[in-house]
Amino acid sequence: MASGPRATATLGLRARLLLISIALVAAGLLLANWSISRALDRTLRDRARAQHVAEASLIGASLRHAGAYSTAAADPLLRELAAHVGDRATLVAPDGSVVADTALSAAALGAVENHGARPEVVDARRDGVGFAERQSGTLHRDLAYAAVRLDGPGGPWVLRVAVSPAVEATARAASRRLLLAGALFGLVVAAGMSWLAVALAARPLRRLTEVARAMGRDLTVRTRIDADDEVGALAGALDGLADGLAAALARLERDRDRLSAMLESMAEGVLVTDANGQVVLANRALREMFLIGGDVEGREPIELVRDAELRELFAEAIRTGRAATRELSIEGVRPRRVMARVAPVEQPGAGAVAVLSDVTELRRLETVRRDFVANVSHELRTPIAAIRGAAETLLLGGANRPDTALEFAGIIDRHAERLHRLVEDLLDLSRIEARELRIDPTELDVRAEAERAAELLAMQAKARGIRVRTDVPADAGSVLADHGALEQALTNLVENAIKYGPERSTITVRAEARGERVRFVVEDEGPGIEPKHLPRLFERFYRVDAGRSRRAGGTGLGLAIVKHLAEAMGGAAGVESEVGRGSRFWIELPAADVSSR
Ligand code: ADP
Repeated sequence: MASGPRATATLGLRARLLLISIALVAAGLLLANWSISRALDRTLRDRARAQHVAEASLIGASLRHAGAYSTAAADPLLRELAAHVGDRATLVAPDGSVVADTALSAAALGAVENHGARPEVVDARRDGVGFAERQSGTLHRDLAYAAVRLDGPGGPWVLRVAVSPAVEATARAASRRLLLAGALFGLVVAAGMSWLAVALAARPLRRLTEVARAMGRDLTVRTRIDADDEVGALAGALDGLADGLAAALARLERDRDRLSAMLESMAEGVLVTDANGQVVLANRALREMFLIGGDVEGREPIELVRDAELRELFAEAIRTGRAATRELSIEGVRPRRVMARVAPVEQPGAGAVAVLSDVTELRRLETVRRDFVANVSHELRTPIAAIRGAAETLLLGGANRPDTALEFAGIIDRHAERLHRLVEDLLDLSRIEARELRIDPTELDVRAEAERAAELLAMQAKARGIRVRTDVPADAGSVLADHGALEQALTNLVENAIKYGPERSTITVRAEARGERVRFVVEDEGPGIEPKHLPRLFERFYRVDAGRSRRAGGTGLGLAIVKHLAEAMGGAAGVESEVGRGSRFWIELPAADVSSR
């Protein structure tokens, strides 16, 4: 699972939020710091100026009271007063000359240049108060000056104090440092709180992320967050998404199951390939048809159905983009004929679908039908030819000679009789097959049925010196069968026994109960039948010896009729025979009342 990148994304969001809030706090603090220090600077300067003006005013007032307007009087007083305030003090006469200065000795005063043009002095004379900040022309260092006017003799005097701005700067720097420290502390506190706030805000998001991840594995998981805020809305949307996905998935699964159930229950084999020609699906019918075991996915169609023609069919369908149909003859353990239709799947890049129907049985039935028609034609041809020949002979004058006329009329009669029998048998067979013959099973006494069949043919048998006897135990019970059908089946078997049995032999009609069935057996002392003929003996027109059968008046349909009749009554027919030891033809039918015995 790609949990790495998602975790980074969450952290990224939190880090971004944290950075933004810290940046905002820092910007606010900087702005506050800047404006506070500006205000502080101004206040400090104003207060310092006011202090200096007060100092100058005090010193000036003291000088005025003392009347100290000369160097000798002013100098000591000025030095004493200035020492209290710690600043330099200068007394400037109305003509601008310096009368006293605490930074200069009395002797040095004479060399001091005229101070009348100094800006603070000019301002003080005009306004009463004056300020200036500059490098002292006398002391050659930065000084801040505050001057006040003194109304003394000879015009306005000026008392000026000078202080080093370094003092003020130190105070300003200290207050700035304090402010900066406060701001930094505030920043750290704000960052901590921001971190906490972001962590708290991110917690439900983290939970949502976990839930979303869990949903990837199991769509029944829900957020279970019920809040009115954005997180609640997101959770609701996530739950809705999961609901929709689960419903869509269920729908898809249902459709898929339905489709696969349909495919699996189809009688036709279905083989689907992908764009690479590899098998993606083979349904049950196909796997059974070609005895395919194991996994089919990813294999080549030729591995499953070993037939080059099918491969060609796939190639043709893909190449032409149209369905290709062909009947294939598949060799192998179970050779079969298969009708294959391969159609390209109408989707770009998709493969093809092959539908294969097993037509082996269909083709076999077609062959049977063809053979049957050929057999019937062949059987009809001989009597028709004989009748035509005899009729022609009669027409060409044979009728004029009484003995010839009689002989040819006899031929016509015999062959007409044979045609009649053939047509009758064919009609019977087709009626039974088409279920047109009404089979109406009732409870019949087994012994009575056997005896009746024997009786019916007793005369015919006697003509060949054959005896027909019955051997039915007293407890043979009753059978559930249609009277007419059972009689026809039994007489067919006895007739055969008479036809193929030797003269002066015995035919035995037996019957016995065998559990839920009753078995009738017609046993003869005839030549018997070779084992190779036995499996096909009940087929239509199948004869061991066609010539003998025809001579005996057989149509080749008798046993087929027996088998069909027995099956129509829910039973079966069969034969046991050994060459030289006679044959035992049997019919098995449901017993009428098993519980009564
Ligand atoms: P058919 O009209 O030729 O008798 P059937 O269907 O009744 O036709 O019998 C099919 C073939 O089975 C006969 O041609 C004969 O070769 C053989 N067959 C039938 N019954 C007997 C029998 N009792 N003994 C020996 N062969 C028999």
